[in-house]
Amino acid sequence: MLRLELLTPPDRALSVLAIGAHPDDIEIGAGGMLLSLAARQSCLLAHYVVLTGSAERQLEARNAAGAFLPNADLTVELHDLPEGRLPGCYSRVKDLLHDVARTFLPDLIIAPQLDDAHQDHRTIAEIVPTVFRDQFCLGYEIPKWDGDFGRPATYIPMSDEVARQKVELLHKCFPSQTSRDWWDDEIFLGLARLRGMECRARYAEAFTCPKSVIRC
Ligand SMILES: [Zn+2]
Repeated sequence: MLRLELLTPPDRALSVLAIGAHPDDIEIGAGGMLLSLAARQSCLLAHYVVLTGSAERQLEARNAAGAFLPNADLTVELHDLPEGRLPGCYSRVKDLLHDVARTFLPDLIIAPQLDDAHQDHRTIAEIVPTVFRDQFCLGYEIPKWDGDFGRPATYIPMSDEVARQKVELLHKCFPSQTSRDWWDDEIFLGLARLRGMECRARYAEAFTCPKSVIRC
């Protein structure tokens, strides 16, 4: 299959907005993509927004952003909206994202996907396209008890090295989560292997892509 490539704009850094409901969402869903981008892009401008989290979890999120995006020009924006209640904070979330959009219109947005079973993730997915009307957006997937995996349309292959680095960093950056019964190497690498098989790579992360424009 023809492979499309994210190229650095000739006159400026590639800009990325990563949005998560909870600390660790971005890294679970797109950590491999971030590591790959950070390794390949000499110039990367990144803005992180995480909407919920205790002080302990916010510290984890801040450290993780730096670990997954080494050398990026990085801004980390952390909020403490109530976890599990983002549907009731719809206007607040929309306002926060409009605040970001006033100064930062990125080349690429990574955010939860619309058919995610978690209400916090889904709320963000609903709001993102109402704020960022003309941005390329990829929706990441997060394993969960609800079992909401679908048929993603876009794949980003990961090298063995990146896949294993992603898992190592997840363990290292989010010690508060390692006791969860689903948090282990097999879940993370198993999903990556499955998505890799689907795009004829060893490992991959998969995304929904609501809209894309291809110039021929
Ligand atoms: Zn989450």
